[in-house]
Amino acid sequence: MDCLFCKIVEGRIPSPRVLEDENAIVIKDIQPHAKQHYLVIPKKHMQDVVDAFSDERQGRETIGSLFSLATKLAEKENLGEGFRAIINTGVNGGQTIFHLHLHILGGQKLTGKFA
Ligand code: 5GP
Ligand code: ZN
Repeated sequence: MDCLFCKIVEGRIPSPRVLEDENAIVIKDIQPHAKQHYLVIPKKHMQDVVDAFSDERQGRETIGSLFSLATKLAEKENLGEGFRAIINTGVNGGQTIFHLHLHILGGQKLTGKFA
């Protein structure tokens, strides 16, 4: 399967890992939308959050593991003042890479809210 994030997870495309556990990796977004912008990416390929929940248990475990790593990231990268977590889903949600991922943005007071 030709999936950019699978290639990054498998190390076929080099991308420095900010953090990693058995379920997911964290990399810096190549086009940051905030002073700090990270992507938390599950190691297992799932197209999006809906695909993840095609199996209820898998969905719960996956989303749990993404936020678990995100909270560790917040501590490691000094996001104690707060951060924003976003999962773009599908074309209307603005998703461009169809391998589930959680955006974590911080390092500044974010302006704007939605859309
Ligand atoms: P989406 O638009 O699917 O919610 O998020 C995909 C994100 O992946 C975008 O913010 C984009 O900047 C980022 N991205 C695309 N290609 C690469 C890459 O090769 N390396 C990294 N680190 N980020 C990427
Ligand atoms: Zn993938």
